[in-house]
Amino acid sequence: MKAWLGMALAGAVAAATAAPCGPEALGTSRVLTLPRAAGAWGTAQHAPLPGLGPKEVVLTFDDGPRPGSTPRVLKALAEHCVQASFFMNGEPMARHPELARQVRDAGHSVGMHGYRHDNFAQWPAEDQGRDLKAMIATYTDVLGEAPPAYRFPYLAESPVLMKALERLGIAVMSVDAGAEDWLPDQTPQMLADKLLGQLAGPGGGIVLLHDAQDQTAQALPVLLNALKTQGYRVVALRWQGP
Ligand SMILES: [Zn+2]
Repeated sequence: MKAWLGMALAGAVAAATAAPCGPEALGTSRVLTLPRAAGAWGTAQHAPLPGLGPKEVVLTFDDGPRPGSTPRVLKALAEHCVQASFFMNGEPMARHPELARQVRDAGHSVGMHGYRHDNFAQWPAEDQGRDLKAMIATYTDVLGEAPPAYRFPYLAESPVLMKALERLGIAVMSVDAGAEDWLPDQTPQMLADKLLGQLAGPGGGIVLLHDAQDQTAQALPVLLNALKTQGYRVVALRWQGP
């Protein structure tokens, strides 16, 4: 194991288990480490994430990093000692590399969400390939490591990119539940009700939220409290080093 990886894992475990959180905090119950390998997870489109038990959730945040809202999301997660996964777009990552590193350095894992945020299934094949190449180059440049995972914008998976990601050994992450937090004018209580409603069916799984949304940043303390009250446990998702 490379030294930087050992340090990163040790730091993540310490942050997950030793943070000064009281019993009222949601907390992070454990770390689930996946191999860096191709695969596709999330019952909206694929198999359930392997190794996830009943009432266990992996919190994921898309479309950042965004200076107006991502720091507020980080603050809410830190106050609950919760570790999540962020699927970042290449364009904002290139514009705000320090914020992207701040997310990673807070102990969260980071995946990709397309350099542009678009429906790639409608693009010519060569343009899809170019976007993925730009996304991987930006991720590697900003975070100094190879990207382990990818989530399609709008969950609009394209055969061209699915094949490319499989060839590269990069996991595709779909979802199990969300709060439809991209819809405008959602109050924190509306988002909490929607999230708990969508989680009730599968009983846990990969949760999709958006750190680029102001209303999500504002609602996050309410959402985390609701998860705690309903007995959900947060699992921090990580990928093994290269
Ligand atoms: Zn998105």
